[in-house]
Amino acid sequence: MAYPEPLEALIVAFEAFPGVGRVTAERLAFHVLREPSARGLAPAIERAARDTKRCSTCGNVTERDPCPICADPARDAATLAVVEEPRHVEAMERAACFRGRYHVLMGALNPAEGTEAEHLGVRNLVERVRAGGVREVILATDPDAEGEATALYVVDALERALDEPPLVTRLARGLPAGSALEYLHRGILEDALEGRRAVGRRAVE
Ligand SMILES: [Zn+2]
Repeated sequence: MAYPEPLEALIVAFEAFPGVGRVTAERLAFHVLREPSARGLAPAIERAARDTKRCSTCGNVTERDPCPICADPARDAATLAVVEEPRHVEAMERAACFRGRYHVLMGALNPAEGTEAEHLGVRNLVERVRAGGVREVILATDPDAEGEATALYVVDALERALDEPPLVTRLARGLPAGSALEYLHRGILEDALEGRRAVGRRAVE
């Protein structure tokens, strides 16, 4: 009654994707068998895995290291926006409201799902700021519980590690709570950036 082994292996591979259960995995696997056009998936996966890496400066996904944004002399290196995921860089670039550079954490604090602080690129961020030239760190993590916890963690890490921490700001409140950065339209993102406020030690000076 079992599926042929190669088909079962494909189903298991689909099941490894986040949010994909057995039933969806079976549906996807049969779709691949039925639709020749779906077979571009395998080479696309191989190519994405082979030809992309993380930028050693900002942590974003890139074909070249450093990534085009880190390599662009026209981008303000003194202002860093800290975001959770590469798709948030994408959203801010689409909105075209930010001319600084980024630092991509690759996640948010979520102990329940196993994302602890040491998995995030916070240590790299501290070293990057320690190296000098950064005047402001803008915390552009999502306005949800994980994003807020991550923002607090980053401020704390910067202030504990550095004698002279940079100005740390947070995107303005007024962002729809629980919303993800990438779904915000340009105007909202621009307002949130414009209305950012100082947090941490420098906020009380
Ligand atoms: Zn980069």
